[in-house]
Amino acid sequence: MERCKQCETTVAKDDVNCVNCGSVVNSVKSKSNLSQHFGKVVTVLFALSAALTIAALFTNYVGSFVTLLAVTIALLMVKKSADEMSASRQ
Ligand SMILES: [Zn+2]
Repeated sequence: MERCKQCETTVAKDDVNCVNCGSVVNSVKSKSNLSQHFGKVVTVLFALSAALTIAALFTNYVGSFVTLLAVTIALLMVKKSADEMSASRQ
């Protein structure tokens, strides 16, 4: 059970504001969930793009190898900075 820092009222897990005094109780948590979600999305996109890059080595159907390689490297950098962001929050 979560408690309000201002008035010690028990608040629901999903409540952003305390029902008693209205102060914000869960903003930090929802922010870190968002960055974790963002990290997962980037990881999935990176895996997808890496797979397409490998596929592009064998076929021209999926697109240009150089373009896909550039996208994969860009996603790798985004993933790295997203990982650093979520690590610094803990
Ligand atoms: Zn309160």
